[in-house]
Amino acid sequence: MPVSSRVLLSIDYEPWFALFRYYDRLSDRARRRKLDEGFTAYAIDPILEQLGAAKASIYLVGEIAEWYPQVPQKIVAAGHELGLHCHIHRPLINVDELAEDLRASVPWCKLYGVRGYRAPMVGIHEEAYELLKRSVF
Ligand SMILES: [Zn+2]
Repeated sequence: MPVSSRVLLSIDYEPWFALFRYYDRLSDRARRRKLDEGFTAYAIDPILEQLGAAKASIYLVGEIAEWYPQVPQKIVAAGHELGLHCHIHRPLINVDELAEDLRASVPWCKLYGVRGYRAPMVGIHEEAYELLKRSVF
């Protein structure tokens, strides 16, 4: 069977300050949102426009869905797969911390039927697989 050439594209959609480990422990949700200054609300539009008819898997940081519910709505409306990247971007190696993080994103994940998860900084503990398997969005 011939295999057609394809490009698989996935995007981690996260606040700009997620790139700087300095903000990993900033837990004040209001301050985190203020740091974003609405950037993640409007930056999604040119990305979706650039993708055009191409489809991607977009792993969203949950606090963005909390701040701007229109962001996951736009992603799904454009026909892309929506996944969970984490609720608040930081290393989630501790399984209890991961469980708490997953719970925080349950509402929007349920709303959009999210099934995929990509760990921040691609860091995950072996025990997390069972937790993720049990997590029902
Ligand atoms: Zn990330």
